Amino acid sequence: MNIFSIIKTHIHILDVIQEYTTLKRAGNYWKGQCPFHHERTASFTVSPHKEIFYCFGCHSGGDVVAFITKVERCSPLEAVKHLADRYAIQLPQETVKQFTASKHEKELYTHVHEMVATWCIEQFKKSQAVQEYLKKRGITQSSIANFSIGYFPGGQQSIKRLLAFCKQANILAQDLIHAHILREGQAGFYSPYEERITFPIHDSLGRACGLGGRIFMPEDSRAKYYNSQDHPYFSKGSILYGFHQAKKYIQETGTVYLVEGYLDCIAFAQAGMPQTVATLGTACTVEHIKNLSRYAQKLYTVYDGDSAGQKAALRLTQLCWDVDLEPYVIQLPLGDDPCSYVAKGAAVKNLVDNAVTIFEYFIQKTVENSSGIELSLQERMSRIKSIIELIAQIQDPIKQDLLLQKAAQACQVPYDNLKKNLIERARRHVAISPEITHKNVQKNEANTSFEKVNTQIEISDLEKKIFSGIISRKYLLKPEEHAFLKLAFSSYLFPIIERFQAYKDQLNEVSITDLCADHEKEFIVSLLMEDEVQGQGPALEELFSQFYKKRWKMIVNGVKIKIAQAQKLNKNQELETIIAQFQNLKQKLFMKDQV
Ligand SMILES: [Zn+2]
Repeated sequence: MNIFSIIKTHIHILDVIQEYTTLKRAGNYWKGQCPFHHERTASFTVSPHKEIFYCFGCHSGGDVVAFITKVERCSPLEAVKHLADRYAIQLPQETVKQFTASKHEKELYTHVHEMVATWCIEQFKKSQAVQEYLKKRGITQSSIANFSIGYFPGGQQSIKRLLAFCKQANILAQDLIHAHILREGQAGFYSPYEERITFPIHDSLGRACGLGGRIFMPEDSRAKYYNSQDHPYFSKGSILYGFHQAKKYIQETGTVYLVEGYLDCIAFAQAGMPQTVATLGTACTVEHIKNLSRYAQKLYTVYDGDSAGQKAALRLTQLCWDVDLEPYVIQLPLGDDPCSYVAKGAAVKNLVDNAVTIFEYFIQKTVENSSGIELSLQERMSRIKSIIELIAQIQDPIKQDLLLQKAAQACQVPYDNLKKNLIERARRHVAISPEITHKNVQKNEANTSFEKVNTQIEISDLEKKIFSGIISRKYLLKPEEHAFLKLAFSSYLFPIIERFQAYKDQLNEVSITDLCADHEKEFIVSLLMEDEVQGQGPALEELFSQFYKKRWKMIVNGVKIKIAQAQKLNKNQELETIIAQFQNLKQKLFMKDQV
């Protein structure tokens, strides 16, 4: 058994993929939103017993190793290593040696962050001032431990201690510089994290990939936060703080709470809302929202009532509606942030119960400002325009109308006026819609190998069904079936069937994707998944006879050629077999009908 087979026999594809997207059962197979392209519908499918995945939207497909290769952007060998680590699978000693010899750059990067986080936790235990500060902010000991909060002390001596600590793990100053933990100045090494509380940042699978630092001393005038710099393994635009811990709770509840800082995130989790995540000092991106929409249907967020907050909320609403995530707004008492609110011991559950849909929130803010003072006519007009903009983004005309009515009522503007405004706006904006842009992106990303095969080679539906039937049911062709299919079956698919048949003794160990060339894989997986989605059709025998009838002329010609060849070479035995099989088939297909 090779390492790929070892992995596949020990791991269930469903368990692996569920770590990246939520799947629901649909008969024999499971479906959900595709992790590789943006979509509203669930085109992504997984077949547990075929051990394959396939997306009917972007045509990505393959086995569990192909999935990890794609989602983690790594080589197949790295994917195997990743799966073996994650599911504690013992690989043969030789393979392990190979891996250790070429220790991957990403692993080193992760290792550096793990070591620095560990060191900062040690320093934290020694610093009374930082502990006092967090205590004052209401952060408990168990939160400190759960989120691995640490402290990076300042000064040359502490940098020296960090270097000595890392050296034990074979991490050098160069590695720390490369990971943006240290910088080299004229007077030696220094770090932007000095005198900051540290928050290790993890990717969705819980691997350390970044570090956040926050000032805490009142006289500190530097920026409040310092985060890891963007790096091939760390992107603020896609990573959310706390996500790896929150993921399972988000999946369970279908709900996610989105806040803005580390302490806000920790405070909410501490207050009984473990499904909280935070952006890393940047605005929420399409990628963040797309990620969350794979696990949640409802998103709760906290916003200030000021105009910057309004604009941010407007943007978020559009992002959410694009991916069918329903956004709600949690309203905190004036002057509070999530952390200060929790620190007061106030019940967070009440906040959630009183959350309003983002749309209601808008309407509310259109009539009055955050202090409850009525807005001027001009301000109101500009906010009503924003509402129209927002409603215009909705695809569903019924929902659009409903919201328009609500808006008209709340803003005390005639419904007809708003409707007219909406229609006029639509006329002006015909050309650009986010939907169209998304589609373009998808098309470019779509797999060329699939498109090539599907457009250049004509394969009848019947052939596709026969192919999937043979492969999925692990059906072994009888000699005469093999002979006749060879004469008339798709020249693209038949060699794959032949390869498959050649492994007949090991069919339980070999998966079909192992027998396909790379350029064949996606197309083949698409056929197998189509077969899965359509469910068990007619028996293979019935399909064979339909096929023989359709291709009768081709079969007859093929047989004639074979007979001529056999005669020429005096192969009498073979000649007899061919004629006998042909007569038999003819009898079966046509004579029976005449009786
Ligand atoms: Zn897809």
